[in-house]
Amino acid sequence: MQRAINRGQLTFMNHIFGPVNSRRLGRSLGIDLLSEKICNLNCIYCEVAATTRLTCERSEYVPTADIIAEIDRYFSDADRLTEIDVVTVTASGEPTLHSGFGEILAHLKAKTGKPVAVLTNGTTLTDKQVRQELALADVVIPSLDSAREESFRKLDRPASCIDLSKVIDGLVEFSHEYKGKLWLEILFAQGINDSAADVEALQDVLDRLRVDRIQLNTVARPPLLAYAQPVLEYRLQEIATLLRKRNPDCPVDLLAQGAPTNDTGASGGKGQEQTEVLDEIIQMLKRRPCTAADINKIFHCGDPEKVEQYLAPLVRSGRIHTRSHEDRLYYVFHEE
Ligand code: SF4
Repeated sequence: MQRAINRGQLTFMNHIFGPVNSRRLGRSLGIDLLSEKICNLNCIYCEVAATTRLTCERSEYVPTADIIAEIDRYFSDADRLTEIDVVTVTASGEPTLHSGFGEILAHLKAKTGKPVAVLTNGTTLTDKQVRQELALADVVIPSLDSAREESFRKLDRPASCIDLSKVIDGLVEFSHEYKGKLWLEILFAQGINDSAADVEALQDVLDRLRVDRIQLNTVARPPLLAYAQPVLEYRLQEIATLLRKRNPDCPVDLLAQGAPTNDTGASGGKGQEQTEVLDEIIQMLKRRPCTAADINKIFHCGDPEKVEQYLAPLVRSGRIHTRSHEDRLYYVFHEE
């Protein structure tokens, strides 16, 4: 859930912040249900902080009455209703872990008459009670970063109580019973959950889901851990193209730009130009395997070592592979 709250960036009452202009939702007033970083995940890309309470327990971490009183105080000035398009419930952690979540949602709907959106990491959808409470929302934006155990664990570092297959089943169940808008967010990090196998596993889940939008994201702000790096722009576009092809009736949005490919030392130009060079290399590898020396001869990257550096992110992501043959290492395109 990439847009959890970074308290340092916003003007706060205790639990109300904004309104902020959201590209997706319009003028959005945020409601933060927690006052410390309580989450059942500890994502390496989290922009809030390390999770201080890694738990699956639902509890009244902040008195529900305090949050409701703050909402009432805020809207005692009726003009404030004209300043917003939507109320967004989120948290400096996972909002559905607050046991007063449903009551607060119902109060917001009654008090404001505005659409209510919820940002959630989706893991509590295993709980029927949470699904029923979320049904009150007009827009639910759950995350699912990976459908593969290995990359899910590396990226989202779940509490031991989280079972990925049950999380996916909960998401599928919710998607079919929920009547509001459901926008699934997937965040990709370079070399962690951007391989062909990862995308295929996510597509298997998408085949079971009813979603209104698919939103692709990457590490766009300073992450909790430095090795959480944005996926290459080239790869993000590829994934978007693939998902659009496989889900023709569902819009696929890009919420962030991937990393440029020009930080790898290749001499094939800057930015867009380098993306094009990379594209040409891949087109060549689709036709035949090549060594780094072969590629260097054609694309003049400087030397074969630079080619290796240039292609390393694509190898890590599983987009291309290396294969040994007669003491030589070849790059091979991986067909999706
Ligand atoms: S789900 Fe991940 S990104 Fe969202 S608050 Fe929890 S640790 Fe941070």
